[in-house]
Amino acid sequence: MPTPKLAGTETSPSDDPWTMALSQFEQAADHLSLSRGVRELLRRPCREFTVRFPVKMDDGSVQVFTGYRILHNTALGPTKGGTRYSPGVRVSEVRALAMWMTWKCALNHLPYGGAKGGVTCEPSALSEGELERLSRRYATEISLLVGPHQDIPAPDVGTDDEIMAWFMDTYSMHLGYAIPTTVTGKPVMLGGSAGRLEATGRGVMIATREAARRLGVPLSGARVTVQGSGNVGGVAARLLRAQGCTIVAMSDVRSGIYNPRGLDPGAVLRHLRDAGTLQGFPGADPVSNAELLELPCDVLVPAAIEGQITRANAGRIKAQVVVEGANGPTTPEADEILAARNILVVPDILANAGGVIVSYFEWVQDLQAYFWAEEEVNANLERLMVRNFERVAEFSRSQRVSMRTGALIFAVKRVAEAVETRGVYP
Ligand code: NAD
Repeated sequence: MPTPKLAGTETSPSDDPWTMALSQFEQAADHLSLSRGVRELLRRPCREFTVRFPVKMDDGSVQVFTGYRILHNTALGPTKGGTRYSPGVRVSEVRALAMWMTWKCALNHLPYGGAKGGVTCEPSALSEGELERLSRRYATEISLLVGPHQDIPAPDVGTDDEIMAWFMDTYSMHLGYAIPTTVTGKPVMLGGSAGRLEATGRGVMIATREAARRLGVPLSGARVTVQGSGNVGGVAARLLRAQGCTIVAMSDVRSGIYNPRGLDPGAVLRHLRDAGTLQGFPGADPVSNAELLELPCDVLVPAAIEGQITRANAGRIKAQVVVEGANGPTTPEADEILAARNILVVPDILANAGGVIVSYFEWVQDLQAYFWAEEEVNANLERLMVRNFERVAEFSRSQRVSMRTGALIFAVKRVAEAVETRGVYP
């Protein structure tokens, strides 16, 4: 099935994720007056790997797939980043996502650089056997880069804990012994962390709560629209409802549903699982993904993919706060329009950091072979999310910049200082 075109239907070259990431970086670099050498180093990934590999399909044919693993920067530690399976995966997207991971880890004080990977494929069109063979071959192809102290993959759009288990097993088979530290987002029984499955959505809920508190908007009764009903959007919708929010709209890749009186996200997710679509959910009106973004609400949580809020639709967004569950959902042009309209944007590298924070907890637990209770994981996540939110909000206020620019300045500064302190080898 071709990927439906979404919101912001009039796209421009500046909506390309890599162009977006570079433009955001240049803004922070200008603010920091970065030296030319450091700027040149940070504006490009340090390693880019493109792999083309065969997979035996169930009908006996062989299909060749293209995958990527891109490491943006290693100044602060081994690289960390998710793995995306989607027909839209392309090098410019993976590059941007890798750069954003560098800033996200630095902003949240995690001892990692940023990376991202992906395979251009439609996972829902593959049988389980095909998906497993594709995953094991892709894991083998990128294994030159991957390792517990080099580069540690995790799930992203189109991948899950089962695929991480195949990655871990493949890597372990090559070395001859079990190496759980090689990926995060694994099943708990294989060394995954309690709370990891919900961590990104939980972080989005915390970021929304903190933003509402700062704006003086009561969370109880706040109308929330969520784009994307996967790991991030589905969990965020459930947890925000538990905080008293009214979830007025949800969507998946095909379409959305709207009920101004409120949806029960648990029931919506069960319907999606059983029917394979949101359509036909009782009591809700159908809306397109583009319409969903412009619905009346207090909080908009884009939690699907990048490039959704663009100059084409930013003028019609009705929310007071946009909390970025997805990576890169708002283009730089849209950022300016939203800022001029006094709409607060909680940027991706802050709002969706819960996933990589608990991935870090998972890695630490695996390294020590000592595991924490879910309450401990959630309490530590809560503490770090609130602390990081406060820091970014205060810094941005003092510098009179948006929360995105403030967060990027903070993050780029940390990485630039690490690069300068380590020095240039040899
Ligand atoms: P997922 O695959 O679990 O869910 C993605 C959701 O978005 C699904 O509902 C899917 O139908 C929908 N979707 C996919 N392609 C779409 C398209 N072209 N248009 C509209 N909707 C589309 O993925 P996820 O893990 O929930 O990730 C969602 C976003 O959050 C991504 O931007 C990802 O990079 C970001 N993110 C994920 C994590 C994590 O821990 N999983 C962490 C940080 C950020």
